[in-house]
Amino acid sequence: MAGRVYPPKPISCGILLSYRCTSECRHCMYACSPRWSDDWISEPDLRRVLSMLADWIVPAPSGRSGVGVNYGLHFTGGEPFLNYGLLVKAVSLAEEFGIPSVFVETNSFWCADRGRGAEMLEELRDAGLEGVLISVNPFLVEYTPFERIDLAVELSRRIFGRNTMIYQLEFYDQFKRIGLKGTMSFERYLEVFGFEGLRWVELIPMGRACYKLRDVFRRYPARYFFDENCRSSLLRNWHAHIDNYGNYMTGYCGGLSLCDARRLDELLEEG
Ligand code: SF4
Repeated sequence: MAGRVYPPKPISCGILLSYRCTSECRHCMYACSPRWSDDWISEPDLRRVLSMLADWIVPAPSGRSGVGVNYGLHFTGGEPFLNYGLLVKAVSLAEEFGIPSVFVETNSFWCADRGRGAEMLEELRDAGLEGVLISVNPFLVEYTPFERIDLAVELSRRIFGRNTMIYQLEFYDQFKRIGLKGTMSFERYLEVFGFEGLRWVELIPMGRACYKLRDVFRRYPARYFFDENCRSSLLRNWHAHIDNYGNYMTGYCGGLSLCDARRLDELLEEG
């Protein structure tokens, strides 16, 4: 049919189990926080979405058991460990459907106790999880004590080896270097490291970042963007996201949903 757009099949994808989080980071691209309602993806929806993704998700270059930030399938949020039972279920379902390169993205709030932390990671590994992505940045350490992040890194390296991804490693090294204990405000971070300390930061200008970090960005009137074309971003096939309400979000655009992800196969077929 004329005028129809046919999005490509997603080759890598993240599933937001919920928007609820223990933190309220200034840069959060989905504006997650503890104030979000306690809504989580339902098991039937999870099953439906995973059954479709199973045909499309491709493994990381290092193989089905390897991981990469923009490869395979990841469970995210919000904070997935806030509903640990659901996270284990989600990993088991992904394993049942044979989805490759599955990892979880976390802020490590749950990693206060070495024994319990190891137990959870081992249980997830046994359920089929291939790796862990541990967030580290100046906005997260305003909420999560660095000791927990550091312990999560140590345990994950022991249990998942090289499938431990630290995002971003430069910030982890900064905090290790100064022996950070507890939390640190962003204002204090700037006193210690200056704006120069942020030179590696990957900030995606969407969600809360546009409001809370507005002074970090150069500002333009809306008409400046009228001739921009975001087609390629909206139609890219990697690192799409599906949330707990069924929204299918491609690219890093401002929260646009292309369709109800529970009917994603129809969208890909019919445009
Ligand atoms: S920890 Fe992650 S999901 Fe939670 S508020 Fe921060 S950036 Fe958002």
